[in-house]
Amino acid sequence: MKGICILGATGSIGVSTLDVVARHPNLYKVIALTANSNIDVLYAQCLQHQPDYAVVVNADSAALFKDKLKDSAIAGITVLSGKQALEQVATLDAVDSVMAAIVGAAGLLPSLAAAKAGKTVLLANKEALVMSGDIFMQAVSESGAQLLPIDSEHNAIFQCMPAAYKAGNSNKHVRRILLTASGGPFRQMPLEQMAGVTPAQAVAHPNWDMGKKISVDSATMMNKGLEMIEACLLFAMSPDQIQVVIHPQSVIHSMVDYVDGTVLAQLGNPDMRIPIAHALAWPARFESGAKPLNIFDVGRMDFEEANLERFPCLRLAYKAIAAGGIIPTVLNAANEIAVEAFLNEQIRFTDIPVVIEACMDQFEATIANTLDIILAVDEQARIITQKIITELR
Ligand code: NDP
Ligand code: MG
Repeated sequence: MKGICILGATGSIGVSTLDVVARHPNLYKVIALTANSNIDVLYAQCLQHQPDYAVVVNADSAALFKDKLKDSAIAGITVLSGKQALEQVATLDAVDSVMAAIVGAAGLLPSLAAAKAGKTVLLANKEALVMSGDIFMQAVSESGAQLLPIDSEHNAIFQCMPAAYKAGNSNKHVRRILLTASGGPFRQMPLEQMAGVTPAQAVAHPNWDMGKKISVDSATMMNKGLEMIEACLLFAMSPDQIQVVIHPQSVIHSMVDYVDGTVLAQLGNPDMRIPIAHALAWPARFESGAKPLNIFDVGRMDFEEANLERFPCLRLAYKAIAAGGIIPTVLNAANEIAVEAFLNEQIRFTDIPVVIEACMDQFEATIANTLDIILAVDEQARIITQKIITELR
């Protein structure tokens, strides 16, 4: 029986994780669930899964949550609040595995704390890895933590790369990684219409049902850019070894091309419960609840190159990793602010890459070798991006 802490339990990945965990009550015990402010969903999850701890980061929501719990069947749950509480529950002795599924930079400190504490870290929160890069990977190797990728592409690569089971070990027999992308909802939209894209259109992904931020990232393909950086870090690859392939059916979740000409692919329906179940059961396997793949329903699979003119965010990610140092941290922070501004209808869809690049160009690629540097750069890049957005309007 393993103890699990789910950071970001109320989000898309958190809900899918609990769905899988509930299918295996003899293998996993839920120790802690965390949310930012969504106490209604958290309450229902606590009723069903009876964790020892529930964290509500937002203090006002936490107070409401405590009221809700009083005199309820789950009054015994310890309720904590504030950012520190995330690190506290991620490092509890009773916790063996931590699902890192908070969105954005807010997930960095608890995910890193779990890695430092030597937990099995199931990493969905790609922003945390992109912003902290080598620091995160170093924490993993120093503590001996097991890092298991949840992002469907990286989970696919992991499954196709047995030698990388200890994440971070480069595989010298790998020629390259083919990182697949659906191309999002605007793959074929006439370029001149892209400026008029609304938030509602951008969050409606053709194949995957996800949180808002990652849905916008998929529409701009910044998601694939972040994933390219994530793949370089997880599998010790150079950016020129990662080829982005548009595959609109989202059936192949990525491929590994070996020196002898063998290409291994992982296939499955686009259902995040598959990579989640893979990581939860690893190195064994168990049921995920996902529908089995019917290859005849798929019928055909298409592949095309990504168009950097249509998707400038992808170009920016390659630019950031080529520059190195703090620039990937800047890229991530600027993107988070730009996406938020787009969702709040403060900037147009096509302004997102413009704003990010303007911010990146204000930084020198100085070395990013401490957490303090990373956190300071993240904060500074957010302020600069806000300023660029204000000037744009
Ligand atoms: P959601 O927006 O659906 O959920 C985000 C979760 O994080 C919620 O539990 C939310 O709490 C919590 N949260 C948000 N802000 C904070 C904060 N400041 N402090 C603490 N908790 C916070 O996101 P997704 O589940 O879609 O994505 C989660 C991560 O997984 C992202 O990094 C994403 O890139 C990655 N990922 C997601 C995939 C998907 O299919 N959804 C696929 C691959 C990767 P509350 O509900 O209270 O706001
Ligand atoms: Mg992905």
